[in-house]
Amino acid sequence: MFISHPVSNRELKTDRLVADVAVVGGGLAGVCSAITAARAGSKVVLVQDRPVLGGNASSEVRLWVLGATAHMGNNNRWAREGGVIDEIMVENMFRNPEGNPLIFDAVLLEWVANEPNLTLLLNTAVHDLEKSDADTIKSVRAFCSQNSTAYEITAPIFVDASGDGIVGFLAGAAFRIGSESRAEFGEKFAPEQASNELLGHTIYFYSKDTGRPVKFIPPSFALKDITKIPRWRDIKFNDTGCRLWWLEWGGNLDTIRDSEKIKWELWRVAYGVWNHIKNSGQFPEAETLTLEWVGTIPGKRESRRFEGDYMIRQQDLIEQRRHDDAVSFGGWAIDLHPADGVYSPESPCQQWHSRGVFQIPYRTMYSRNITNLFLAGRIISATHIAFGSTRVMATCAHGGQAVGLAAAICAKNKLKPRDLLAAPRMKELQRELIRVGQYIPGVALEDAGDLARTAEISASSELKLSGFAPSGESMPLNFAWAMMLPVQPGAMPPVEFLLDVSAPTTLRAELRVSSKPVNHTPDVTLATQEIKLKPGSRIKLPLQFNQEIDAPRYAFVCLMANPGVSVHLSDQRVTGVLSVAQKFIPAMAKSPRQEPPPDSGIDSFEFWLPQRRPAGKNFAMKIDPPLEVFSAQNLGNGFARPTNQPNAWVADFAHEQPTLCLTWDKPQTISRIELSFDTDFDHPMESVLMGHPERVMPFCVQELVVAQGVRVPVTSDGRAVNGGQSSDTERLGCEVSGNHQSRQSIRLREPVTTDCLEIRLIAPSTNVPAALFELRCYA
Ligand SMILES: Cc1cc2nc3c(=O)[nH]c(=O)nc-3n(C[C@H](O)[C@H](O)[C@H](O)COP(=O)(O)OP(=O)(O)OC[C@H]3O[C@@H](n4cnc5c(N)ncnc54)[C@H](O)[C@@H]3O)c2cc1C
Repeated sequence: MFISHPVSNRELKTDRLVADVAVVGGGLAGVCSAITAARAGSKVVLVQDRPVLGGNASSEVRLWVLGATAHMGNNNRWAREGGVIDEIMVENMFRNPEGNPLIFDAVLLEWVANEPNLTLLLNTAVHDLEKSDADTIKSVRAFCSQNSTAYEITAPIFVDASGDGIVGFLAGAAFRIGSESRAEFGEKFAPEQASNELLGHTIYFYSKDTGRPVKFIPPSFALKDITKIPRWRDIKFNDTGCRLWWLEWGGNLDTIRDSEKIKWELWRVAYGVWNHIKNSGQFPEAETLTLEWVGTIPGKRESRRFEGDYMIRQQDLIEQRRHDDAVSFGGWAIDLHPADGVYSPESPCQQWHSRGVFQIPYRTMYSRNITNLFLAGRIISATHIAFGSTRVMATCAHGGQAVGLAAAICAKNKLKPRDLLAAPRMKELQRELIRVGQYIPGVALEDAGDLARTAEISASSELKLSGFAPSGESMPLNFAWAMMLPVQPGAMPPVEFLLDVSAPTTLRAELRVSSKPVNHTPDVTLATQEIKLKPGSRIKLPLQFNQEIDAPRYAFVCLMANPGVSVHLSDQRVTGVLSVAQKFIPAMAKSPRQEPPPDSGIDSFEFWLPQRRPAGKNFAMKIDPPLEVFSAQNLGNGFARPTNQPNAWVADFAHEQPTLCLTWDKPQTISRIELSFDTDFDHPMESVLMGHPERVMPFCVQELVVAQGVRVPVTSDGRAVNGGQSSDTERLGCEVSGNHQSRQSIRLREPVTTDCLEIRLIAPSTNVPAALFELRCYA
């Protein structure tokens, strides 16, 4: 039936939504911000102008999510971000170790859809706003082209996570574009003069092998002369996705207003490169390849950076400066590119690392002049130099989580972002963040509400690490390798390695530590030894350095490169213990030693990197006296990952079903238990392209039961009688089965009043003892 509509009745339908927190932009910063605020009790609206979530991490752009782990290419050990972004990365690893970008989309959509307090508007672009006064946003207006609906979203607090900062721009928030002069912030690596040069956009493509010859006829707009790209000889037939990051352009243009123009140039480049691969005759291997996907939305690196009450700068990163209002951290290199990108004759990037991770202060996360506007993602208040590091997505997401919680606290208490700087509020923000998994370097959880802190905690066993059993496999010392051992103040314990030696040689061994105990850069050599070795197999190499260790920290017992010597390996693994080699990965550095330009304010130091599993293994070794750093007392020390120590309770290898017992003087009423597992915070879990060998991290306890215990008699050396298994305990209907996540929050069916709780765990494997970072109980 044909219905004629009167001309007067043609206004767009407008939905008016009222929220506690409105988040604009569904990249990872916006997603983590919105989920965190919703979980903290705020009614949240998340507005995303594209059909899926994730921003540059979505299947529309296909960047792999990275942060402080930097592909394991620098010395930031156990540096994967915590909280919501960790849940997402760990879940993606479980479902999608192959790195299919569509599965990552689905994980993000599910995580947002699971939040009852969160309303998601997809395909909806914010384009306008209304203010209640010069410094306060009242509402934003948006439009969804798919349902022809206009939206007006009113809220007391707004989060701009839109990448280009649409809300901040429309609201009149102070921002910058380009790079600061060296003098403005005293950043030695900054250019002498301020400039308008930016990092450009990139478009990726994927190819696939069809198994039969495929002809490619390029579109007329494809770049015809490949030599216009100075690095054209570096093109490989099988480069796809993130490996094409250097197909970058537009840094000399207006990266907001000229975005469509930049996209067309990048399509020219992408199709031109593919034409070169298919039709130049230089890549016979490409004959059966076809283009599977070309990006339609360019990945954008840089545009506006907004001004908060503080601008994080080079010195904060390199000197790892401390801030009372630290709420997040970073650790990617200062990663800057020439503005001409793919057409520049210069190296396509410079990457300069810090010796360890750095704090990010809260003052960078809200506008200095719009009083109810938070900033999340790449637009936070950072200088161009610092932005070179803070811009990566896991760092953006982790900061977004801090913003989400701060926004919820502000909305609940009718506060403005700046109000949270006052000490009690800042402590509350930090505490609530750490409670939900945020890692803030140097800040321990102080949690008066945690009933486990008043309990006596005992374990049926605690690992005394006396070494790693040989597996029979050995590895030549083609590089210098070290075992990172967590040691306590006092004499450095002697160790013994097992070697195969092919010819008479002298092996150099070193004992090193990091200049800052919390770092993992072995930049201080405490002792060296030159050991003459005769040929032979399974030769014992005892090493006694007679050195005093000054503080709890990691000691690096190094065997320097000597290809004639092989060191025996072990299949055993323990939370917070690793082997590392002095080498580099080309994606993150140019040599095994960082050598920055002189007087650039950046440090020289060596990279000592673990090898990825399955290859990365511990050395077979003996440690005598054993390392006693894995006690159950670590469960309440406020850190839920290895820092200067493993910070974990670890059971003995021999004890495959260990038990933890919490006993109180008086009965306690408990309704919730929080547990933190070891999902290997050293693993970057790149979200796309790069495959991973495991779905579940090898250190992760997958099975446990919580029971209401009876006080179990304990022997004089602290071991529970009967292995801690008391026969007459009652299960609380509270089991974790098939766990692969870093955190489990267990709500008991009904509160239980008891003076004794038992946690019975099953070790992940015979080669990996059970471990936990945290065990907290709440009324
Ligand atoms: C080629 C390239 C390589 C990179 N390499 C890496 C890497 O290897 N690893 C890494 O982690 N990072 C990398 N980065 C950096 C990183 O991708 C960005 O800095 C990061 O995506 C910024 O996160 P964000 O959440 O602030 O912005 P985005 O990811 O851009 O998300 C912002 C979202 O807001 C939405 N939006 C914008 N305007 C509006 C509006 N008006 N209304 C509603 N929604 C809106 C956008 O659609 C987008 O989804 C790279 C960037 C590029 C371009």
